[in-house]
Amino acid sequence: AKRLRLILGDQLNAAHSWYQQQDDDTLYVLAELKQETDYVKHHVQKVCAFFAAMQAFANALRNAGHRVLHLTLDDTAKYQDLPALLTGLMSQYQVREFHYQLPDEYRLRQQLSLFCRELSIPAMAFETEHFYLSDSELKDYFFEGKKHRLEHFYRKLRCRFKLLMQGDEPAGGQWNYDAENRQKLKATDFAVVPAPLMFTNDVSDILTRLKRHNVKTIGLAHSSLLWPITRHQANELLQYFCRHCLANFGRFQDAMTHELDMLAAPVNGELALAPASDAKVEQVTTPEYKKQWSLYHSRLSFALNAKILSPQHVVDTAIATYQQADGAITLAQIEGFVRQILGWREFIRGVYWANMPEYACLNHLGAKRELPSWFWSGNTNMNCMQQAIKQSLDYAYAHHIQRLMVTGNFCLIAGIDPDEVDAWYLGIYIDAIEWVEMPNTRGMSQFADGGIVGSKAYAASGNYINKMSDYCSGCQYEVKQSHSDNACPLNALYWHFMQQHIDDFKANPRTRMVYANWLKKPPEAQQLILQRAEFLIRNIDNL
Ligand code: FAD
Ligand code: SF4
Repeated sequence: AKRLRLILGDQLNAAHSWYQQQDDDTLYVLAELKQETDYVKHHVQKVCAFFAAMQAFANALRNAGHRVLHLTLDDTAKYQDLPALLTGLMSQYQVREFHYQLPDEYRLRQQLSLFCRELSIPAMAFETEHFYLSDSELKDYFFEGKKHRLEHFYRKLRCRFKLLMQGDEPAGGQWNYDAENRQKLKATDFAVVPAPLMFTNDVSDILTRLKRHNVKTIGLAHSSLLWPITRHQANELLQYFCRHCLANFGRFQDAMTHELDMLAAPVNGELALAPASDAKVEQVTTPEYKKQWSLYHSRLSFALNAKILSPQHVVDTAIATYQQADGAITLAQIEGFVRQILGWREFIRGVYWANMPEYACLNHLGAKRELPSWFWSGNTNMNCMQQAIKQSLDYAYAHHIQRLMVTGNFCLIAGIDPDEVDAWYLGIYIDAIEWVEMPNTRGMSQFADGGIVGSKAYAASGNYINKMSDYCSGCQYEVKQSHSDNACPLNALYWHFMQQHIDDFKANPRTRMVYANWLKKPPEAQQLILQRAEFLIRNIDNL
């Protein structure tokens, strides 16, 4: 081959201009690598999903007439790392030119750029052609250390890409519909929550391979993988979302619930779009009981982050569904969804690249504690934590508010070292790739970047969880109490955290009221709460 083109596991973009021409002088390489399974301890479903999707992509390229080398862990075991593999292949195939797409992860980008510096043949890096903003454009929008704000960036992109706009104005006259969204699920709402669409991809060979190569993983291993691994499946999931979930996406975006067996729509049934009003929804097929764990979320993050689907395609499809729904989907719902992908996803990536590699070491609040051992098992009496962690171990998934306000909030107010928090999030979630995991975790959730991503620390007491979920009614702790023996641990930890960081937060207008409430408490009451917090921290492994 004249040319070797490397395709990384998260670069499965079939629409890339590379593939427009078929050419026998180009050898495409996809390789399962130990360096990728072992840089952090991953959820087993995450490794399976990437490996299965790579295999499927290799097959699809081959069927389209390209020359493809797909290497499994068996084939690559003898190479120490990616550069060693590439060096071996270059001599084996007498390669005269090396091409790769810019990795989205700092670690890999460094590794490949160092490798190319030493190469004696020409090397070229290409854009991935995936994001709204190209790699080279990021520097026009993001600056190192700057406290960027999502809203400003998001509006610029809405204008630039002409999404949900009427001329120069936002459709409906408003940029943001948060006030209409964010409702709690009521018991009567459960009847119409659609069951998650799950696939049954056979990954038994991959599981055997992981065992053979002694890859250490976490989470529930299943030979049938529920995540989409092909463009066809990813599109089915997108269609399912548009049809059954989008109409309620924003409204219940922040709601949380027990992973109960509940009444849900059958996966293959024809369910009418839930009406925008609170009017009763007619169930048009025989209802059945199904586990429900993702509510109205899309679960498209894996397909997006592996670049199986492009953000443009997802956003355009959702907007088209909204336009054809004749009012059955409100503007608030579609705006909420577009904001996540056009706004947050692109924003987070910009922050990452403007601030790496320093970002990975930021620890603004000086948090130093170890992650409690029950993060790896879910064995805790705190019901909210147990639900969020067990669900994550079972499905490699938790939705945004579970990540931010349950597990993330606990780590923040208990002062857990952001390195440990990052490693947990980077390992456990199906969609976790450092560029998107780290600014969300270290930045938005742990405030370790001192406010580069968000203007405040998302610290909360049990009250918030009680407001947004049904977790507290099934908990052995008492959410209304703060210092008794069975008081909700989050209450004392919250006040302890706020007290400890009073200098960091007291000037922030968003926390002024909180401090006013704290200072109103009699000193003895404050003392009891702080003592309870110290006790909880000493016994953190047994909560
Ligand atoms: P939906 O709720 O259906 O949202 C649609 C899409 O919007 C998502 O698929 C995602 O692509 C995008 N999106 C939404 N919120 C964000 C966000 N804050 N940042 C970037 N994209 C967003 N997302 C990841 O993709 N990978 C991660 O490793 C990751 N780690 C996170 C860690 C923490 C502590 C927090 C608070 C959030 C994290 N997120 C991460 C963001 C978000 O929680 C997930 O994108 C989302 O839960 C994925 O589920 P979904 O596809 O059902 O999302
Ligand atoms: Fe979580 Fe506290 Fe509610 Fe228990 S009482 S579920 S620990 S918020």
